Amino acid sequence: MSSRADPIIVVGGGLGGAAMALALGRAGRRVRLLESAAEFGVIGYGIQLGPNVFPMFDRLGVREAVRRVCDVPTTVRMRDAFSGDNVTEVPTGRESFTARFKHPYIIVHRVDLHMTLLDACRKIPSISLEANTSVTGFVDHGDHVAVHTEDGHAIEGAAVIGADGLGSRVRAALFDEGRPRLNGYVAHRTIVPMETVTADVSRDDVVLWAGPGFHIVHYPLRHDTMFNIVAVFQTSTYSEKGEVDKYRAELIHTYRNAHPGMKQLLEMMDLERRWAISDRDPIRHWSKGRVTLLGDAAHPTLQSYAQGACMAIEDAVCLGELIELSGGDFVQAFQRYEAERCVRTARVQLESRLLWDVYHAEGLARDALWQVLSERNESDVYQCLAWLYDGVALPKSV
Ligand SMILES: Cc1cc2nc3c(=O)[nH]c(=O)nc-3n(C[C@H](O)[C@H](O)[C@H](O)COP(=O)(O)OP(=O)(O)OC[C@H]3O[C@@H](n4cnc5c(N)ncnc54)[C@H](O)[C@@H]3O)c2cc1C
Repeated sequence: MSSRADPIIVVGGGLGGAAMALALGRAGRRVRLLESAAEFGVIGYGIQLGPNVFPMFDRLGVREAVRRVCDVPTTVRMRDAFSGDNVTEVPTGRESFTARFKHPYIIVHRVDLHMTLLDACRKIPSISLEANTSVTGFVDHGDHVAVHTEDGHAIEGAAVIGADGLGSRVRAALFDEGRPRLNGYVAHRTIVPMETVTADVSRDDVVLWAGPGFHIVHYPLRHDTMFNIVAVFQTSTYSEKGEVDKYRAELIHTYRNAHPGMKQLLEMMDLERRWAISDRDPIRHWSKGRVTLLGDAAHPTLQSYAQGACMAIEDAVCLGELIELSGGDFVQAFQRYEAERCVRTARVQLESRLLWDVYHAEGLARDALWQVLSERNESDVYQCLAWLYDGVALPKSV
């Protein structure tokens, strides 16, 4: 029979896993955070976070630390990929935005956010951060769990939380459902020093240039010293690993008619690596017994709303609250947690697919959508985002 002294095993030390460990550690729980990579938090690009994540940072005690490393963009703007015209914008830097949503919209280097969460974890002695520990499976013994690692060890604990991302091994052991859904798009990501940016583009807001079957997102990082660029496009080679020259030829062809500002951005791209874009259909249940999932392991989404990490952090705080409210009854806490979270996260997954189609629309559909978007005033824009940016109430009882 597990006791309060038994560790909770969190598999995966990404943003979701780190937030989960911190939530549990702050409540006095023992946590073993197992990460397969050799080091925690070493890679990353830019990330945008909506105002809904700030009440979660408050619960985790990291609001001020995050504020020190982040920036607030003037706007989040959508531009036409050919003409460069503004289609719509969210005035994130305006007072009306913070008056409406109470918290800021931020852009931050993923590594800085990750380190902020990990540094907070390191200050709590009951949290053990264990890199180089790749989980292969688990056994739920009913009154405790055992996790198995690639190097042949078994780690026992009170419960398992799978925060191991899109390709989750914990999820694969829970459900027989195949791989995530590839949507035929790929992403190339680059960060360059701001002084090397030669492209004639804005440097103080988040810009999404939307074209049929392709887009580019860019924004500044680290207090305007760096510049983050993501180029995303549809290609028949989405599942293949290629070489830089082949990737470059594809980009040149795909963006051949794009606005000159976009082409200048592409010249700055590092094309060593590409990511195939994928998500999954939403599911209502992602827990069994003493095992549950969070973040991308539970509800991977397309990036259209820039909310995947926000959802993982919301999950972590909600689950932490429920484990305490249930007095450590993990089965009950996990059931209540998925019930609390599944509609909101499903909505992010499903609306992200719709928004993805809007960004990449073609022909007359594109003209009509641009007209709809450009007719919205500030208050319409805020209303559309309210369900997401107003955030969630944390559970008060199980
Ligand atoms: C191009 C792009 C842009 C994005 N932009 C944004 C954005 O602006 N805003 C936003 O909120 N979200 C964004 N996202 C989504 C966001 O990155 C993810 O939703 C978020 O990182 C999910 O966090 P996670 O902790 O659930 O998973 P992950 O970040 O994937 O972390 C999983 C961790 O588990 C580890 N792991 C995996 N398998 C094992 C194992 N077997 N054993 C032990 N450890 C394991 C991995 O090494 C990793 O550290 C973007 C995604 C992409 C692809």
